[in-house]
Amino acid sequence: MTDMKAVVGTHDILMITLDTLRYDAAVLEQENCPHLCGSGPWEKRHTPGSFTYAAHHAFFGGFLPTPADSDKSSHIRLFHSKNTGFGTHPHTWLFDTPDIVSGLAAEGYRTICIGGVIFFSKKVPLARVLPGFFQESYWRMNFGVTNPRSTEHQVNHALKLLERSLPEERLFLFMNVSAIHGPNHYYIPGTKRDSLETQRAALRYVDGQLGRLFEVLRTRKRPVFCLIFSDHGTAYGEGGYEGHRLAHEVVWNVPYREFFL
Ligand SMILES: [Zn+2]
Repeated sequence: MTDMKAVVGTHDILMITLDTLRYDAAVLEQENCPHLCGSGPWEKRHTPGSFTYAAHHAFFGGFLPTPADSDKSSHIRLFHSKNTGFGTHPHTWLFDTPDIVSGLAAEGYRTICIGGVIFFSKKVPLARVLPGFFQESYWRMNFGVTNPRSTEHQVNHALKLLERSLPEERLFLFMNVSAIHGPNHYYIPGTKRDSLETQRAALRYVDGQLGRLFEVLRTRKRPVFCLIFSDHGTAYGEGGYEGHRLAHEVVWNVPYREFFL
């Protein structure tokens, strides 16, 4: 596993949630996603929540998706709350705050959230909870699910912030990518319904845009540790189900990757 005690303090940290990306869609597009999968394949994991709000609460509490295997010894956590009485792995980074975001801030990180789906829109009190974990949070209408160029706008915003960021600054940059979440039918012109195929097309679009972000991050003073995964999948009619916030393997299986830039 990654030695998080060696990462925190010495690396910038990038966390991206590819909202609603199904594990099977991610694997089918692996060859077509050079930026996300250039250094390795997706790992199959189980999400701790079946929809955005629940899953991100768990992530920010240090509960990232769990490896999808029954070997408990492989379920080593990168982040863990301090002084819980549980034994932890020597490479697990321990935080003494309510969540990893404020924990990283306590280590001198500037914490930034670039929102995507509605739970990050800050439009109503509930949609201010998740962005509220961060020192700085940004959401624009064109970062949301209704804009077919949302990832382009989100990445442009991140690049603007990076341009103005001091080289010695420790950064924890979080981005919730909205493009893969429904509606995504417009990624295949002429299609009127969301499907596994239109979700795959959305993922290809997202990979192309994230390449620009990775390129700039590579030029930063510190190496960047990247955590990229989905918060939950979604059903397109499997077992009669549509959507998420329900228990079905197309929802609970999620793709997960970690790598360095
Ligand atoms: Zn979500």
